Amino acid sequence: MASSVTVPCDLCGHVEHKPFLAKSGGFYTRCPSCGFVYTNPVTSDLSEHNKIYYNETSGKYIQKHFSIRHQRKCCALLRKFNRHRKLGKLLEIGCNAGGFVYAADLKGWEAHGIEPVEKVTEYAKRKYGLNIQNCFVEHADLPEGGFDVVYSNAVFEHLPSPTAAFRQVRRLLRVGGVAYIETVNIASYTFEFLGEGWRLIDPRDHPSLYSPVTMRQFAKKSGLDIVRIMTRGVRFRSTGERRLSGIKRITEEIKKLPYSILSRLKLKGDRIVLEARKTDGAD
Ligand SMILES: [Zn+2]
Repeated sequence: MASSVTVPCDLCGHVEHKPFLAKSGGFYTRCPSCGFVYTNPVTSDLSEHNKIYYNETSGKYIQKHFSIRHQRKCCALLRKFNRHRKLGKLLEIGCNAGGFVYAADLKGWEAHGIEPVEKVTEYAKRKYGLNIQNCFVEHADLPEGGFDVVYSNAVFEHLPSPTAAFRQVRRLLRVGGVAYIETVNIASYTFEFLGEGWRLIDPRDHPSLYSPVTMRQFAKKSGLDIVRIMTRGVRFRSTGERRLSGIKRITEEIKKLPYSILSRLKLKGDRIVLEARKTDGAD
């Protein structure tokens, strides 16, 4: 059995624990001071679990990242980022198989990626010569103030210390540059409906679960200015379950509609999208 250690809240430093949820041999705490939900106590096999999972599934990610459908999505996002282009440099934190870095390269960006799991990046580095560093974001060897855009999708929930990652994001952005971060929303209708049955609720794989409130606090703490926070998505069935078809699907979509509208107004969609800017160069 793995040993475990208790850790303070990464957002506010509070040490008192308030158990929130137990699943798959791991535990979440909700900080009674700031509301941040995080894995606590932490078992020593957390990173090992991640490594094994991504090593085993690298083939699936390579196929997805370089598919026409995924590349189209990357291009749509890159069109949004064009208005921030000044140095022409963009970074993706947690680039996985490298599909977005590849798409950005093709659009003329000097694109960089960071991905700790070497196995998933081997293909992109070998075949396309992409600039990907195999490390955690805190340890990346990249120039301060070197990027117009720092982008990350479905990665910040994997980070045991978001504070360090947010500080690094700010350090790497140029003054006026923009961070665009997507992650799981624990304060969502989807969590209310599915609870611990939601696949993304996993204390071994996702040690940090944000709400729009705590996401905003992390960004502010690192010195970034919020441009906007929005949320998207409502689910009645867990991520990864087979899609319904025919009349069942139509019925589900109709049931979802009021929640989809409300989630936009009340920030209760299941993915948070944070856009934040570095407005000055002071430490
Ligand atoms: Zn806290």
